[in-house]
Amino acid sequence: MLSLEQARDAILAEITPAAATETVSLAQAHGRFIARELRAQVDNPAFDNSAMDGYAVHAGDLAAAGFVLPRRGECRCGDAPATLAPGTTMRIFTGAPVPEGADTVVIQEDVKTEGEKVIFPKSVQPGSHVRRRGEDFRGGDMLYPAGRRLSSYDLALLSAAGVAEIPVYPRARVLVAATGDELVTPGTPLRPGQIYESNRLATIFLLHELGIEAADGGTIRDDPSELRAWLKSSADYDFVITSGGASVGDHDLVKQVFAEIGEIKFWKAKIKPGKPIAFGRVGSRTHFFALPGNPVSSLVTFKLFVEPALIAWHHGVSRMPQLSATATNDFRRHPGRTEFVRARLVADDGKMLATALRGQGSHMLGSLRETNGFIRVEADSAGFRQGDSVLVIPLSTDY
Ligand code: AMP
Ligand code: MG
Repeated sequence: MLSLEQARDAILAEITPAAATETVSLAQAHGRFIARELRAQVDNPAFDNSAMDGYAVHAGDLAAAGFVLPRRGECRCGDAPATLAPGTTMRIFTGAPVPEGADTVVIQEDVKTEGEKVIFPKSVQPGSHVRRRGEDFRGGDMLYPAGRRLSSYDLALLSAAGVAEIPVYPRARVLVAATGDELVTPGTPLRPGQIYESNRLATIFLLHELGIEAADGGTIRDDPSELRAWLKSSADYDFVITSGGASVGDHDLVKQVFAEIGEIKFWKAKIKPGKPIAFGRVGSRTHFFALPGNPVSSLVTFKLFVEPALIAWHHGVSRMPQLSATATNDFRRHPGRTEFVRARLVADDGKMLATALRGQGSHMLGSLRETNGFIRVEADSAGFRQGDSVLVIPLSTDY
């Protein structure tokens, strides 16, 4: 059985990243992975401009004029740069171009005006309140390397840099299905032996959070020919993700059918929850994850394995940040597998506190209500005690 790290390495080694690229407009680029480095089209600021509302001057003129200058004209945002006549001052507003001949802006709070006369303080710092052309970045500067996934902040920077078209990798085509004869969609009353299916929607929306539109493959019966036909028809997808039937039971057919028509790279990983997970390929193109059926196992293995695989497919680098936190309660267990304990993380006065939640069975969803992270327990560890420093994986920013 592979360790967590071995399993993840095996997956990343097997992923064939997207080969094609496409170009989208900036407005379509949020969440996309860029396919080429992006460079600024313009300087920012694009021209010297005023950081404040005030008066533009040539600082060297002030002393000779006894710190009193006549006001000549006005420079507003959107105006083309004007020229300042020597020995005069010009009214200027935040963001307006500093006129040629001026080198300094004196803020309006620091001057007195008498009609057209502007009276300046004696202590003007030459060059003050001017934002310099290109002090943020220059046209041609590299802004982002390829493989970067664009955030809302990135769109602000790219807009300012005048980048209108973004080469990106296509979104992975992903097919998701649940498997199991016992599964029923909410809305239908349960007959004896049936349960409500809960993995599929969560998986589809975890994919949405990664910017991926997933196809809903529904629920497939524990029937070899049905499974076989379905899997064979999935050749158009880059990834197929199923849950259930990945274990060794007589009716755990996903793994059997997968082994028959695909190529399994590995099957089990020494993690909890989620040991039975099969990964490999169907056909030459399609990466296949057979995730465990237990609801929490399928969510945890998605986070640990599927997410990094998808990011790698889009040429990105996945990081699963692990932070240290202080445990607020005890958690004891038998060593053996790397465990991801559902936890409530709370930011407390600059420190992170982590509480292991009650109800850690891989079939138990109740604790998901409060889960906003995992506490990672190493394979050889018997758990932790209140006050111990533990490693946590945040799942959201809601602390
Ligand atoms: P399996 O991996 O198919 O052996 O399923 C393991 C456990 O997870 C069983 O108790 C199943 O009933 C349950 N299970 C499998 N798939 C789902 C699903 N999509 N939603 C909820 N429970 C599931
Ligand atoms: Mg099953």
